[in-house]
Amino acid sequence: MDILTGRGLVVTYGGTRALDGVDVTVRAGESVAVMGPSGSGKTTLLHVLAGIVRPTSGTVELAGQDLAPMSDTRRTLLRRTDFGFVFQSGQLLSELPAEENAALPLLLGGHSRAAATARARDLLARLGLAGTERRRPGELSGGQVQRVAVARALVGRPKVVFADEPTGALDQATGREVLDLLTSVAREDGAALVVVTHDVAVARWCDRTLAVRDGRVWSRRPAPDDEFTA
Ligand code: ADP
Ligand code: ADP
Repeated sequence: MDILTGRGLVVTYGGTRALDGVDVTVRAGESVAVMGPSGSGKTTLLHVLAGIVRPTSGTVELAGQDLAPMSDTRRTLLRRTDFGFVFQSGQLLSELPAEENAALPLLLGGHSRAAATARARDLLARLGLAGTERRRPGELSGGQVQRVAVARALVGRPKVVFADEPTGALDQATGREVLDLLTSVAREDGAALVVVTHDVAVARWCDRTLAVRDGRVWSRRPAPDDEFTA
């Protein structure tokens, strides 16, 4: 089933065509890596698909619903319930312990503290963070902080998780570990994942890769499984 469909997406900023006619489909539960040089339009594509940036032309449909005619309030609500986000850094609240940071979307969405915390603790454990639930971000390593951010993105059982270079601030080995966990836990939970990454190894863990250049998708390939087994 297609969960997210972008058709004929064009975004212009003044004279710059950040997106120049992109068609993209994300199926339920699949992971898609978005790769390409700096300035090629990756972030813009993510923001348009997530309903943060309105396309100059073209349409985005979430599970068959066109985002364009919706009010900003409706679109914001949809973003909270159906999407999760992982940013590069600086997204946790420093005064709150890991489990409350991870549970925040559920707490803000009116779920009971007990249910929200139980779900957050389950995710933290699956992300290798059992025992660190009560620590504040300042008492965690950079990789642990990003794993808490992954838990927070998944806690509300979103249909799609968007991650824009979520490990750009980490060293390569730690970044790969976090992205491996993000990809596998999202898959277990049935969330689709759209991740911007520069790491070819990470792209291989995804079901598909979209290569972006000059605002266009110039190649779509499935993960090269043959390179795995070689
Ligand atoms: P990437 O994520 O691949 O680095 P971006 O999507 O951030 O690329 O940017 C694509 C192009 O659009 C670049 O030329 C960038 O400078 C331009 N751009 C992106 N956002 C804006 C904006 N808010 N205002 C003006 N130009 C922008
Ligand atoms: P990245 O390349 O890592 O995606 P950028 O540094 O290009 O990030 O962009 C960071 C933010 O600034 C994005 O939200 C993008 O939309 C915005 N941006 C990028 N280029 C421009 C620009 N020329 N003018 C205004 N905003 C921009």
